[in-house]
Amino acid sequence: MKGDKKTKIVKTIKIDVDKCNGCRACEVICSAFHATPKYSSNNPARARIRVVRDPLRDVYVPVYAGDHTVAECAGRDKYTIDGKEYDECAFCRASCPSRDDFKEPDSGLPLKCDMCESDPPLDEPLCVQWCLADALVYEEREEEVEEEVEQDEMEAGLEALATKYGLQKIMDTVARMSVSKSA
Ligand code: SF4
Ligand code: SF4
Repeated sequence: MKGDKKTKIVKTIKIDVDKCNGCRACEVICSAFHATPKYSSNNPARARIRVVRDPLRDVYVPVYAGDHTVAECAGRDKYTIDGKEYDECAFCRASCPSRDDFKEPDSGLPLKCDMCESDPPLDEPLCVQWCLADALVYEEREEEVEEEVEQDEMEAGLEALATKYGLQKIMDTVARMSVSKSA
């Protein structure tokens, strides 16, 4: 949804694949930060960053979880950069039906990088702080943009559930839960 112009801070993480050594520290700290309670556990499958690793070919690609999509692509892309061939979907950020990446392992709900949203805010996202190889560099800039109503995490989760089970089933379940809670 579009609206008036406003100034917003654009947060960027610059990724240097040549510096990444595949240590996966970024996955560990991301999953720990998003654990409930915070730092109570770590499971890289719950991280909002994934490192595509193929040590024998010297391929390491940190990829951030982006938007959820209900349909997978009709085709696939295969990149060759500086003589290295990268797997199909290697650079894709989508939480999509074609793979398990960027899905909460227990619920299947989509995961998305939130730049370590926190109160008070962090100076830099934790994956950047934990990357000792300096493969991840955080930058901020101001930009004038159309005001948009962004889809929050809960909305994205509900949309994924509605796609999986149907909207009517979700509404029936919520109605049943509210009746049992008020009884
Ligand atoms: S912490 Fe840095 S070097 Fe380690 S896997 Fe993540 S991006 Fe690569
Ligand atoms: S910026 Fe924060 S939420 Fe995003 S991948 Fe890095 S640690 Fe996870």
